[in-house]
Amino acid sequence: MNIVIFGPPGAGKGTQSKFIAEKFKMFQLSTGEFLRKEITAATPTGKKISSVINSGALVSDQIVSDLIEKVISNIDYQNRIIFDGYPRNLAQAKNLDNLLKKYKQKISIVLKLSVSLDTIKKRISERRTLEKRLDDNEEIAIKRYETYEKSTEPVIEYYKKLNLLKVINGEKPINQINKEISDIMTLI
Ligand code: AMP
Repeated sequence: MNIVIFGPPGAGKGTQSKFIAEKFKMFQLSTGEFLRKEITAATPTGKKISSVINSGALVSDQIVSDLIEKVISNIDYQNRIIFDGYPRNLAQAKNLDNLLKKYKQKISIVLKLSVSLDTIKKRISERRTLEKRLDDNEEIAIKRYETYEKSTEPVIEYYKKLNLLKVINGEKPINQINKEISDIMTLI
């Protein structure tokens, strides 16, 4: 199975994706992490995207599509991908459908972690101390939240209509969310 995990910055997407990847032997495809690696390695793509990421906006659809196609087309990851951070707008959701069709795969479930803006601000400030991400200050976090609301919320509607969406309360303690996700996953 392939799954999509959604949530605003600081919702716990990364934490929960790591948990799912380990427990269900899946591959976590975090587009944000892949993009940050390009920046650290100072590749041509990395140089192009660093200012975009640090402003809280979205990187171009084409750059991210090329990146995810490399993973989807890899037989080692076939039907066991966690899309963590993709799709982030409607065009990406349709692109993901097409790419999965091209490689004879599909999405089994879409998990959405809901959290309030207050919680996000708190978590982002804690994470900044730990991970030292340049886009984790309060101002940029609010910008990323706004980008999420504007571009990503319509994608939620898209998956709701396809009957793939499960909404999870991301305010609960991590282990309770782990359990809720495990229960959902074992039913698929
Ligand atoms: P994340 O680690 O998921 O919070 O992503 C960090 C940043 O990477 C985002 O704020 C965007 O600038 C960029 N990014 C990650 N995934 C995507 C995507 N699917 N499309 C465009 N930009 C992305």
